Amino acid sequence: MKIDFKKNIDGLVPAIIQDSETKTVLMLGYMNKEAYKKTIKTKVVTFYSRSKQRLWTKGEKSGHYLHLVNIKMDCDNDTLLIQVKPNGPTCHKGSDTCWGESNIPSYGFISKLETIITNRIEESDLNQSYVASLFSKGINKIAQKVGEEAVEVIIEAKDNNNDLFLNETADLLFHYLILLQAKGYSINDVVKVLKKRH
Ligand code: AMP
Ligand code: ZN
Ligand code: ZN
Ligand code: ZN
Repeated sequence: MKIDFKKNIDGLVPAIIQDSETKTVLMLGYMNKEAYKKTIKTKVVTFYSRSKQRLWTKGEKSGHYLHLVNIKMDCDNDTLLIQVKPNGPTCHKGSDTCWGESNIPSYGFISKLETIITNRIEESDLNQSYVASLFSKGINKIAQKVGEEAVEVIIEAKDNNNDLFLNETADLLFHYLILLQAKGYSINDVVKVLKKRH
C-alpha cells in the first residue's frame, strides 16, 4: 500500500508510535518519504523533525532508540501506526510516553512471547521458523493444532505424569497465542472480555 505523502502540503505524514508488546502509545512524530525509507532500512525509527528541520533518528543522543517491529497504514493511507520495541523511556523528559504515562507489560513473559510470535510471522522464512510455517498454512490448520494440543492436555490430565501434563499445557497456550494473532487478537483482548463479565 502506498502512503499519501502529498496529502499535507509539507509532505509529512503523522506516525503514531506504539509499543508492539503492551500496545501503549509512546509518542507522535512525523515522517517524510526519506524518514520512512530510512526507518525500514535501518529497522530503527527515524522521523523528520520539524524543529530540527532534518531527519531525526529517535535516540541518536540519548540511546533510547525505537526498534521497528511492524508498520501499519490507516484506512486512507495518510497516517502510520508504527509498532516498536523501545530501548528505554521514549520521552526526553524521562517518562515512558510523551503523555507522562508508564508502560508496563501486563502479562510479563506472555506479552514477550506474543512479540516473539509477531516477529517470527513477519520476518522468518518458512524453513527457519515453525511459527511462520504454521501461519502460512492458514487459520484452519492453526485452529486444528489448538484442538490437537487440547486433546493432548486431556490425555495427560488423566495420567499421573506431571511433567508431560505441564508440557502439553504449554503447547496448548503457545498454539492458542498463535491462533489469537492469526485472528488479529492478543491475550489483552481476551482479558478484556473476561473482565467485562465481572
Ligand atoms: P534523542 O533523539 O532521544 O537522542 O533526543 C534528542 C532530542 O530530541 C531531545 O533533546 C529532544 O529535544 C528531542 N526529543 C527526544 N525525544 C523526544 C520525544 N519523544 N518527543 C519530542 N522530542 C523529543
Ligand atoms: Zn487517515
Ligand atoms: Zn516527549
Ligand atoms: Zn503437544
